Amino acid sequence: PTSSISVMVNDCSGKMGHAVAEAAVAAGLNLVPLAITGPKMGNSRVACGGVAVQIIGAEERDSVFDRVLNEYPNVIVVDYTLPAAVNSNAEYYISRGVPFVMGTTGGDRTKLIDTVKKAGTYAVIAPQMGKQVVAFQAAMDIMAQNFPGAFAGYTLKVTESHQSSKVDTSGTAKAIVEYFQKLGVKFNVDEIERVRDPSEQVRRMHVPEDYLGGHAFHTYKLLSPDGTVAFEFQHNVMGRSIYAQGTVDAVLFLAKKVREGADQKLYNMIDVLKEGSMR
Ligand code: NAD
Repeated sequence: PTSSISVMVNDCSGKMGHAVAEAAVAAGLNLVPLAITGPKMGNSRVACGGVAVQIIGAEERDSVFDRVLNEYPNVIVVDYTLPAAVNSNAEYYISRGVPFVMGTTGGDRTKLIDTVKKAGTYAVIAPQMGKQVVAFQAAMDIMAQNFPGAFAGYTLKVTESHQSSKVDTSGTAKAIVEYFQKLGVKFNVDEIERVRDPSEQVRRMHVPEDYLGGHAFHTYKLLSPDGTVAFEFQHNVMGRSIYAQGTVDAVLFLAKKVREGADQKLYNMIDVLKEGSMR
């Protein structure tokens, strides 16, 4: 039963952390009422799906983890913090021997994977937790591997729109562009068009006003050399629930792997998808 799985969400006072904590409670998981936030940023309480979670600064994490590991020995940690904290947080979870799901993007990804592999701690690491988006990426990968050059000569236009606070180009858009390159399309990631202006997002991208603060709208348009054939791929995500749901699936998946004592320790969202539906 899911109620036997405890999950600690750092930091559930952040936007993604809060969405995950609420989805975890809704899925029947046992949400640990303690969470770590950035140094000196603690001392508050946040309600997540009816659970009052105490938010404690990172400077006190040793004593918090002592308590959590004692009271919830089978806990799984979820991390949605900031790119600058990715590597050090992962190293900390490893040092405490606690399985974790890392949803935070950025940081030194090669180092992250290396560290986790060496330590042999159970973990799911995925900068994109939206299962259906990951399935689309995997399908693009299969197409590129099987039919390299199939779209040679085609021109590509890529547009991605996100909330104006997102400064970098979408990592997912860059990953999809790599598959198009393998399919023979000449296109550089610098050519991806970023839309960040709210009025343009409403007018041109048709983003509902309610989601200007959180959306991921992507369009990839291909045109044949003579202009007689056009393809268009689109994935438009509003809000954060797709990522929150995928994270809960990753937690359930990881809890199962820990229970079974699986040989493989490190997983990504493709592994979670391949396992099939768990809910
Ligand atoms: P946010 O700013 O709302 O929340 C981040 C929280 O982390 C803040 O509350 C901050 O105080 C806290 N924090 C900072 N340093 C910390 C530390 N050392 N330890 C613990 N907590 C710390 O940001 P957000 O919108 O929730 O995004 C968080 C991350 O999740 C970003 O990297 C974002 O790109 C990523 N993200 C991933 C997915 C996915 O599918 N994997 C989806 C959406 C967002």
